[in-house]
Amino acid sequence: MSKDNGLLASVSDTSTESEFFSPMPEGYKKGKTRYCFVMGTVMSGLGKGIFSSCLAKLMQDKGLKVAPIKLEGYLNIDSGTLNPFRHGEVFVLDDGMECDMDLGTYERMLNQNLSKANFTTSGQIFSSILNKERHGDYLGRDVQMIPHVTGEVKMKLRRLAMESDADIVFVEIGGTVGDLENAYYIEAMRELAYEEGPNSCCFVALTYILEPKILGEQKSKAAQLGIKQLMQLGVQPDIVACRASNPTTDKVRQKISIYSNVPFERVISLPDSASIYMIPAMLREVGMDFEVARLLKIDDRIKLRQERKAWAKWCDFTDRIGSAKRKITIGITGKYTSVRDSYASIINALEHAGIALAADVKIKWIETTSITGENAAENLADVDGIIVPGGFGTRGAEGKITCIKYARENNLPYLGLCFGFQMAVIEFARNVCGLTQANSTEIEPDCSEPVIDILPEQKKIEGLGGNMRLGGRDIEIKPQTLAWELFGKANSVRMRFRHRYEVDPRYIQQLEEAGLVFSGKAPNHPIMQILELPSHPYFMGTQAHPCLTSRPLKPQPMFVGLVAASMQKHYPDEKLPDCIRAVQKV
Ligand code: GLN
Repeated sequence: MSKDNGLLASVSDTSTESEFFSPMPEGYKKGKTRYCFVMGTVMSGLGKGIFSSCLAKLMQDKGLKVAPIKLEGYLNIDSGTLNPFRHGEVFVLDDGMECDMDLGTYERMLNQNLSKANFTTSGQIFSSILNKERHGDYLGRDVQMIPHVTGEVKMKLRRLAMESDADIVFVEIGGTVGDLENAYYIEAMRELAYEEGPNSCCFVALTYILEPKILGEQKSKAAQLGIKQLMQLGVQPDIVACRASNPTTDKVRQKISIYSNVPFERVISLPDSASIYMIPAMLREVGMDFEVARLLKIDDRIKLRQERKAWAKWCDFTDRIGSAKRKITIGITGKYTSVRDSYASIINALEHAGIALAADVKIKWIETTSITGENAAENLADVDGIIVPGGFGTRGAEGKITCIKYARENNLPYLGLCFGFQMAVIEFARNVCGLTQANSTEIEPDCSEPVIDILPEQKKIEGLGGNMRLGGRDIEIKPQTLAWELFGKANSVRMRFRHRYEVDPRYIQQLEEAGLVFSGKAPNHPIMQILELPSHPYFMGTQAHPCLTSRPLKPQPMFVGLVAASMQKHYPDEKLPDCIRAVQKV
């Protein structure tokens, strides 16, 4: 028996003598990494990801290494096939993982690239278990939810701890306590805390405080019951964060404290905030960072001088929120216009650029199914710039092309993202090159001028589903172009992709001869990745999704360029910096 009394048996241990089974990555050292679990009660949509990322940021500022992970309950292997209308945008990581939009929040808050190790779904867990079972890894044993499935979850967390060398792993459990599909995650957390020992884990329960209009006061019962449910699963929360529109009253906090054995100062009020970037300050104010450090007995690893510097830099950024002197409106055409989560990264990227340039960027959602040549001017009269974002299928495509034509002909700043890049090529081919039948084979499979066609590599895997050209790729930038200036004269930049179609290389020469400049392309492949129109104040498109890599303190240059050009358009009499100077300044 090992010194853990066999509790932490190795993965290959299939002995039937012991009921203990908890696979460990080789070389795992207990105690090096601490764990902070964040889960939600009462209802979903409380902002667990935002809370967890803000707390992780505060610990990162203290010089601690942090690694977040989101555990999803659904059986899909990744988020690639999920409808953004139901689930929010599909966020793509540099390694090509298609995941939940919360990973975007973590990347932005921590200014850190994440990978597939930071995201898992029940689909991944079960698929791994079933593969192992077929492989004979559990010979002699019946494969059970406990200990095998929970063991797989713990293995994943410990592997992340080891690979990231983190001081703290932040674990966010999707859904709500009480959901059948995430119950085994909570059980795995309980087991992990038991195995790792005292002060190794900290449990945070987010809850919601109801405030029915008819009563005019806050009620704590739903929150109490939610926390009780967690305790019935054997988990004692260390911190309770009360979400509500308003600050949670002391009375309600006291009630929750009594019910949940959580000291009053660790039942914190977390009211709505105008910007998520203000939440780290809210958490700091109530001392959340030091509470977590104390609970995890990790104070000795904190570097206070580093923290002071990091915090000053962050406050420099947050001080500028809401202090904009100028207002502009950017029109975004989109299929899922009723759900802001579907475009979370774009909204964030615009916010980052706006804060950097002291512009209050309003968004006008444009439903393109009803846009025609006749009403385009009227619909776009009040916007200072347009974004056509990523998209799939035919719905609203003609309306988007009409908006792009209007932007091109009226010097209205334009940024096309992925589908928006492809639509800009179609518009240019039709209306400038005279290829009136130009289209994408995604929209019109038999079109006679397929300027946008399926990628050759995609043709081979067509029909398999869930396959796209995915993840971070280098883009070769053409010198002396606007893109080259915006990217600080770099010869190469890296952006993230998620597409199946591309500009058909047979049309490149014709498009370029008519004045379209492809200023970014894939190295060693004729895949066009950035386009621009030198005759226009700001007309750019990219096959990539630059919004995915915009960070609060490092706004993405194509977005900064768009906001700067739109400001110039809105305030023609003021001497505002052009897009290149604006990017240089931030
Ligand atoms: N539907 C287009 C393609 O697959 C664009 C994809 C996107 O905008 N993400 O290429």
